Amino acid sequence: MSKRNIKDLGLKELEEILNSWGHQRFHAKQIHSWIYVKGAVSFDAMSDLALDLRERLKESFSFFELELAEIVESSDGTKKFLFKLKDNNLIEAVTIPAERRITGCISSQVGCKYACCFCASGMLGFKRNLTASEIIEEVLYLKYNLKDERISHIVFMGTGEPLDNYDNLLKAIRIINAKDGIGIGARRITISTCGIIPGIKRLAGEDLQVELSISLHAASDKIRSQLVPLNKQYPLKSLISACKEYIRKTNRQITFEYVLINDLNSDLQNARNLSTILKDLKLAKVNLIPANPIKELKIEPPEKSEILKFKDYLVEEGVNVTLRKPRGSDIEASCGQLRLRYGEKQS
Ligand code: SAH
Repeated sequence: MSKRNIKDLGLKELEEILNSWGHQRFHAKQIHSWIYVKGAVSFDAMSDLALDLRERLKESFSFFELELAEIVESSDGTKKFLFKLKDNNLIEAVTIPAERRITGCISSQVGCKYACCFCASGMLGFKRNLTASEIIEEVLYLKYNLKDERISHIVFMGTGEPLDNYDNLLKAIRIINAKDGIGIGARRITISTCGIIPGIKRLAGEDLQVELSISLHAASDKIRSQLVPLNKQYPLKSLISACKEYIRKTNRQITFEYVLINDLNSDLQNARNLSTILKDLKLAKVNLIPANPIKELKIEPPEKSEILKFKDYLVEEGVNVTLRKPRGSDIEASCGQLRLRYGEKQS
């Protein structure tokens, strides 16, 4: 039987286990500190633990299972990491440096069920949820393998749908956020969803001040169902009303991601629809993202002038809007593409 990864245990669970072994509970905090604060690479490194405890831990748990398969670096500093999991599945994570921050873009599943028409992540279908330890290891890898750089922000915008893997995601986020864990502030952690309404409702009830992004991408059911098939299950009206409820309950802003795709959702009629449906949301922001071209999906961004027209219209309507600068375009920045290529090379 394969060993359990120590990072799948919360502090309390670890304390219980140590207690049942006849060791003091407080060693659990020491172990967490070695793993998350000091970035230990093995149980052997935990020099303030008795040797017999270290041996017992080694026998009982696995330590670090993520293996780096490939790194690709963009001329703008964006780096893509391809990781191999214990069962040989592949996942991607990305680091995106900006002025005073480095954002780690983290995957939450192997593949994706939701098959949005502009996204490479779903092209190989869905394989499985990531465990909490696998999610945490992505973050730890990025945190401790970037020389002097430090990950300051985390976005769950890698492969997969985070709210479809709710329990493991929240378990991982609590460790990523904890002061005696990885210590990244909740407001610097963003969960992005294509619109899983039950997950949005559940999140609104958590005692966690994480940021929420909704991958909206269209403001009419006709176009959104074409881009994000999940819209057929959770149409715009119910999605927007769940967002309204989330804002009312948490008093937190929601960011709406909108990928601008040529000939699909980028003309002024779409901008009009967008400003209309966001009008009665009190705390909302729109982030426009010119589509990264994906040749397999025939996806192209609109002309620069059309992008600016779309943005200017929203500004005039009083919508809080930003335009994301394309990053890593020379390394096929869209999630899923590296894994896709790697899969092709292997077969
Ligand atoms: N499933 C979640 C988490 C993945 S985030 C969700 O849908 O929110 C996926 C994000 O990747 C999307 O919001 C979009 O911002 C981005 N994305 C995917 N394909 C893209 C493309 N071709 N061009 C630009 N952004 C893309």
